[in-house]
Amino acid sequence: MKKTVVVLGAGMVGVSCALELQQRGRDVVLVDRAAPGRETSFGNAGVFARSSLMPMNNPALWAALPKLARNTSAQLRYDPRFLLRNAGWAARFLYSARTGCFEQTVEALDRLITLSRPLHDRWMAEAGVQARLRSNGWIFLYRSEAAYASGMLSRQTMDRFGIQTQTLSGEELRALEPHLAPIFPKALWIQDAASVDNPGAVVEAYAALFQARGGRIVRDEVKAIHRSQDAWEATGTAGRLRADDLVVALGPWSRTFLRDTLGLSVPMAYERGYHRHFGARPDATLGRPVYDIGGGYVLSPMEMGLRMSTGVELADIDAPKADAQLQLAETAAREAFPLADYRDSEPWLGRRPTLPDSRPAIGRARSHPSLWFAFGHQHIGLSTGPGSAQLLANLMDGAESPIDPRPFAPARWGL
Ligand SMILES: Cc1cc2nc3c(=O)[nH]c(=O)nc-3n(C[C@H](O)[C@H](O)[C@H](O)COP(=O)(O)OP(=O)(O)OC[C@H]3O[C@@H](n4cnc5c(N)ncnc54)[C@H](O)[C@@H]3O)c2cc1C
Repeated sequence: MKKTVVVLGAGMVGVSCALELQQRGRDVVLVDRAAPGRETSFGNAGVFARSSLMPMNNPALWAALPKLARNTSAQLRYDPRFLLRNAGWAARFLYSARTGCFEQTVEALDRLITLSRPLHDRWMAEAGVQARLRSNGWIFLYRSEAAYASGMLSRQTMDRFGIQTQTLSGEELRALEPHLAPIFPKALWIQDAASVDNPGAVVEAYAALFQARGGRIVRDEVKAIHRSQDAWEATGTAGRLRADDLVVALGPWSRTFLRDTLGLSVPMAYERGYHRHFGARPDATLGRPVYDIGGGYVLSPMEMGLRMSTGVELADIDAPKADAQLQLAETAAREAFPLADYRDSEPWLGRRPTLPDSRPAIGRARSHPSLWFAFGHQHIGLSTGPGSAQLLANLMDGAESPIDPRPFAPARWGL
């Protein structure tokens, strides 16, 4: 008899877990209340980059904190009431910016990102979506020499990990991306990076591959989970599923789900972010995603137009959308590139699920047998879904892990 697994959540992380566990010979059911890849995994910037090993809470955060605390920047907004209610998370997030923890985090994230890339390449080929992948890197844009200088820790860290980058003068930048306005005297081209032109479609294609290989996808909102003698039961509005093992991969909803069903306290905050799609002047093209550091947005060429995605807004998962950060980002993006009209009727809102040390929780739950976690992928869940799945599947099989699992152990947060 094959061992059975129910995977909750069909974002990039859950779909990757389902595919990998299926490949290891398990009988897998994937459950989501929506179609695969419709939430956080849909609206991101589409970047797969080793440079994303730098968490937001790094030692350079201290110098930026007085400016960020004013709550007026495009890079970071926060709802003070949310921060007060989540003061424990905020304190631990800041505490994790100290050098020792930062060093552990960058090393762990680099391994997870690096592990994921060949799997993405393989699955994209198998799912027939490799044409969506561009392997021409992405570019950090600096509006002044001083801004470039303040990115030193990030560049030193990339160098230390052997990430291939090239510093560009304003002229060299224009040779690479001729339609950017000449307002960036310096740029950093991260060559060790790729991007996709429709992240949601990639998740859908992976889910279709899982189904084509005999996997089952159930559309249901799971309301309760329960461990009976030898199996898990997941009960939704449409029915009940039983399995030997249960994987929780509910992205930002993992926190409330585990609180409401098992009474667990997940120290997660929501780094919310928006996107909008724009048309461009007919002759203006962008070859790869660019990150305007001072402007606080990423502009990514997508199938739907140019997607401008914003920085971080710390607020409740379901708090109403706010305009100010988007408007600042749009003003800066229009300075940088000849954007035309909106291609969508309203902004999209996503929630990056973030644990205090900016590392996802991947592994066995301490509190319950055969319960597994794969959530908390903050800014990098699109790129690290496959590596997370491989790590989790090895842990479930009791096999040697391809990377050190300890930095990701749910037990570090008492889970
Ligand atoms: C603006 C922005 C830009 C980003 N840019 C990048 C980037 O360039 N590169 C990168 O790697 N990452 C990026 N990210 C981060 C990345 O998008 C996330 O880390 C990743 O999508 C998380 O995937 P997930 O599968 O954990 O969560 P999700 O994609 O949110 O999936 C969770 C799923 O759980 C389902 N669900 C929730 N509750 C229930 C329930 N009770 N029952 C059934 N189903 C349920 C939801 O419907 C959803 O489909 C960005 C994020 C944002 C917001």
